[in-house]
Amino acid sequence: KGFGIFSLSEDIIKALKVLEYEIPTEVQERVIPLVLDKADLMAKAQTGSGKTAAYAIPICEMAEWLENKPQALILTPTRELAVQVKETFTHIGRYKRIKAAAIYGRHPFSIEKTELKQMTHVVAGTPGRVLDHIEKGTLPLNKISYLVVDEADRMLDMGFLDQVESIIHALPKERVTMLFSATMPDEIKKIAVQSMRTPVFIDV
Ligand code: AMP
Repeated sequence: KGFGIFSLSEDIIKALKVLEYEIPTEVQERVIPLVLDKADLMAKAQTGSGKTAAYAIPICEMAEWLENKPQALILTPTRELAVQVKETFTHIGRYKRIKAAAIYGRHPFSIEKTELKQMTHVVAGTPGRVLDHIEKGTLPLNKISYLVVDEADRMLDMGFLDQVESIIHALPKERVTMLFSATMPDEIKKIAVQSMRTPVFIDV
């Protein structure tokens, strides 16, 4: 068993060994093959379920190292989660030399701008700051092919869903979209329906 059941390259398998991830969690077992097949999905998953690696593993697998514009955008409700997501991508993508950046409110804009100018494969950020960068032209979106809305229910609680919708509208239509949430209120289901193509629903 283990992560060998998925078609993952040696670079990713090796990184998972270093992290001591031996057995995929339930959400990982469901999500990884779907993303490798480029399916849209919404997953009802709690913190602690291994949801971050569930999307980071297949995105790292599919990322093109030579592409110098961001390919994946992960929206998070808090700066802490944005930083955590960045670190997870850095760890899982270490042997592919995947570069991840975290962008969030009350963090120097100019530092983020410089970072985004260099090769960045994955961007994790809070909606307000992501929109700032989009408006100032410092976050190119034309190569984004993966969007993850993480902890969508907290986005709703914090009043960020309008910003999330604006970001989604600015993204290329040709992409894989994933939404993770501990609960699935109607407002969140609505966003999912609007932003995805026949999403697979996962409840773990
Ligand atoms: P998350 O639900 O993404 O916040 O992850 C919860 C914790 O589980 C994190 O500390 C991860 O490092 C860890 N984790 C994720 N996947 C696995 C796995 N397959 N085996 C062991 N630990 C894992």
